[in-house]
Amino acid sequence: LDREEPNYFGAGPAQLPTNVLQKAALDLINYNDLGLGIGEISHRSKDATEVINNSKEHLRKLLAVPETHEVFFMQGGGTTGFSSLATNLMTAYVGATGTTAPGGYLVTGSWSEKAEQEAARLRLSTEIIFDSRKFDANGKYGSIPDESQWCENIKGKKYSYVYLCENETVHGVEWPTLPKCLEDRDDIEIVADLSSDILSRKVDISKYGVIMAGAQKNIGLAGLTLYIIKKSILENISNAEANDALLAQLNVPVTPIAFDYPIVVKNNSAYNTIPIFTLHIMDLVFQNLLKHGGVEQQEKENDEKAKILYTALDACPDFYNMPVDPKCRSKMNVVFTLKKEGLDDLFLKEAAALKLTGLKGHRSVGGFRASIYNAVSVQSVDKLAKFATKFAKEHSN
Ligand code: PLP
Repeated sequence: LDREEPNYFGAGPAQLPTNVLQKAALDLINYNDLGLGIGEISHRSKDATEVINNSKEHLRKLLAVPETHEVFFMQGGGTTGFSSLATNLMTAYVGATGTTAPGGYLVTGSWSEKAEQEAARLRLSTEIIFDSRKFDANGKYGSIPDESQWCENIKGKKYSYVYLCENETVHGVEWPTLPKCLEDRDDIEIVADLSSDILSRKVDISKYGVIMAGAQKNIGLAGLTLYIIKKSILENISNAEANDALLAQLNVPVTPIAFDYPIVVKNNSAYNTIPIFTLHIMDLVFQNLLKHGGVEQQEKENDEKAKILYTALDACPDFYNMPVDPKCRSKMNVVFTLKKEGLDDLFLKEAAALKLTGLKGHRSVGGFRASIYNAVSVQSVDKLAKFATKFAKEHSN
């Protein structure tokens, strides 16, 4: 069970550590000498429960999750998160206040845009606090407005939650830190999509109401989503659900049962059949990270990788176009285009000849995107940076 180390820069599903996949492959055939694979046993068996509990414990350790917060897993991905966050958080707000308020959205790229659209599609009240394209000279995603440009607008306003996507995978825009004017508001729950940057850097969990992360970039395979939620939000949802007449009167949609957060938590993430093999892989990723110095060490490596690649691309300003404001450049998804037309295919072909793959940009943006998630090594990034430098030299006039 071996393979040559890939240099794969795909945005997701993404490359995982080879040692994790090797162990998972063996466990898929025969787990703990049961004579059965991990995906074949009951999701309520002792072994499966151990996988669930270990995954929670390892994640708690990696992110120093405080006692105020609960960890759970749910089938689905980021998009399922868009809907379940909207209904659960609106319900929680009713539980806390007896009334509704819009969900506020900070739109900085296509994933936060889609999250807002989904909440609105479910007929929930939403407010786009800002859309970063309106602040951009070219009307495109690629920057985050300064707090002085939008914080004043939300002063004194009520929101059932305020949503942001910490790393916009398609546009390569990452919040460097949480906005201070939200952190300062005790009455606002910050809800964040960390699908493409979870465990890439340290975060202070106590600042978040809910964190949601689809697994298929930094922590595993598609099909499973990780949640970290404030326990008080779970209580508020349960309280509201005990008064169905009020929820109906306020037109708050009922959350489908498999995505109802308090129900999933009460059942230790196994209300329905949890994809236990997928969770086992996630736990192996967590264990691997713990063994290699945790998030602190990973963050150092990620900083180094981002520096290597951005430095190489910035060094050829006549050749590479870097569309993202340096203040919010993603350390996970490096987006760039060629200034000269007609060379895109050649760039991909020559990269592939060096076994550098997965570099094509998202269909809505074009150009290139190098996703340098946790499992992509410094050596792979170095190889890509050297190739980019050489390509620019050879094709500049
Ligand atoms: N959020 C972010 C930041 C993403 O990058 C993606 C997918 O790439 C999603 C949400 C949607 O995830 P899914 O395809 O699992 O629904």
